[in-house]
Amino acid sequence: MSVRVRMAPSPTGFLHVGGVRTFLFNYLFARGRGGECLLRIENTDVSREVSEAVEQIQESLRWVGIDWDGPVTFQLDCMERAAAAAQRLLHEDKAYLDEGAIRIRMPKDGVTAWDDAIKGRIEFPNTQLDDMVIVRSDGRPVYNFANPFEDLEDRITHVIRGDDHVSNTPKQLNVIAALGGTPPVYAHVPSVLGTDGKKLSKRHGSVGVDEFRNAGYLPEALMNFLALLGWSYDDHTTIMSRDELVERFTLERVGVSPATFDYDKLDWLNGMVLRALAPDAYAERLSGFLRDVEGRDWPRETVLAAAPIVQEKITKLDEFAGYAGFLFGPVDPPAELLAGAAPILGAVADGLRGLEPFERVGIEAVLRAAVEALGLKPRDAFTPVRVAITGSKVSPGLFESIELLGRDESLARLAVAAARAS
Ligand code: GLU
Repeated sequence: MSVRVRMAPSPTGFLHVGGVRTFLFNYLFARGRGGECLLRIENTDVSREVSEAVEQIQESLRWVGIDWDGPVTFQLDCMERAAAAAQRLLHEDKAYLDEGAIRIRMPKDGVTAWDDAIKGRIEFPNTQLDDMVIVRSDGRPVYNFANPFEDLEDRITHVIRGDDHVSNTPKQLNVIAALGGTPPVYAHVPSVLGTDGKKLSKRHGSVGVDEFRNAGYLPEALMNFLALLGWSYDDHTTIMSRDELVERFTLERVGVSPATFDYDKLDWLNGMVLRALAPDAYAERLSGFLRDVEGRDWPRETVLAAAPIVQEKITKLDEFAGYAGFLFGPVDPPAELLAGAAPILGAVADGLRGLEPFERVGIEAVLRAAVEALGLKPRDAFTPVRVAITGSKVSPGLFESIELLGRDESLARLAVAAARAS
């Protein structure tokens, strides 16, 4: 029997990264077994406006790199069939009417049990199960009836979901038994907490996928990171491509304890993935980010040329503007960082004026010669030059920066700075 899973978000709000992690497990599990992964929107509640959330859910999943098979389905569309199934249960005396609502007969003794693929055997005493309402008096099936009904209809083989649903499972198993179906394998994944041990929330930082995109995380880094929230391949492998994750993911290696969303680890991973990109690919990703996410119309050629000088330095693409923005607009070098630097700024300007070709190696030679002529230490003397050119003490490599900025603009900046320095 081939594997069939579903990602079943409730469109009650925007999709949280903890939810994306659970859907990723579904996706990896299905794709690694040649199975199918469906996307079902669980909108049993008609009163909620959902279209925006539905869009956001799909966009978030697509951006991370999670796709699904067939059209998106909506639980609301199976309500009539679910209500008809409840009528059949009435006829079979597996359910009964109670003040207009339909209640299912739950077993009165023994246990309802299942072998959870993550948590192991779980047993619920049936004395704790009430005869649950499955269809309200207004004719609407309830969530805990529609959900397993749809799992049966869709021939779902594995239900991989958050462990906040463990208490729903005995109810749903009894619904499936009454409907005469074979239950899927259940796999309840541990929750995701912030580093303070509290449920992940806004307080800890970004929680929506679009926030991670806007901050300059790469989708493959986020996917890699999310896969490791509660799952591991072995005790040391961290960096894995999507194909490797698909090939390696198993439910057996999903742990039972809550996972911690460690933003520092995500940053580290993102930096690793960024630095591992081929230079051309890196430049394209950076350029796309600046244009599509940050909405900057900076000259593409300059962005591509600047990419190699930042690739080793930045951890997230949103750091580029602060770091290399001096290449795309005026700078305002603080006078206090330039005090006493007029001689070196002047000497560097003199050297650069006639330099041919205007390239990194010659630029470095000019700067070193100027420093030597004035009897200064390179580290001290380069700082005001850097401040003049980039507006900051922290920047990409100075010689490359001057080359990228070009002769005219570099000379103009050195002149402005020299005036402030004296
Ligand atoms: N709609 C549920 C949720 O968003 C998931 C239920 C399930 O996977 O069975 O938590």
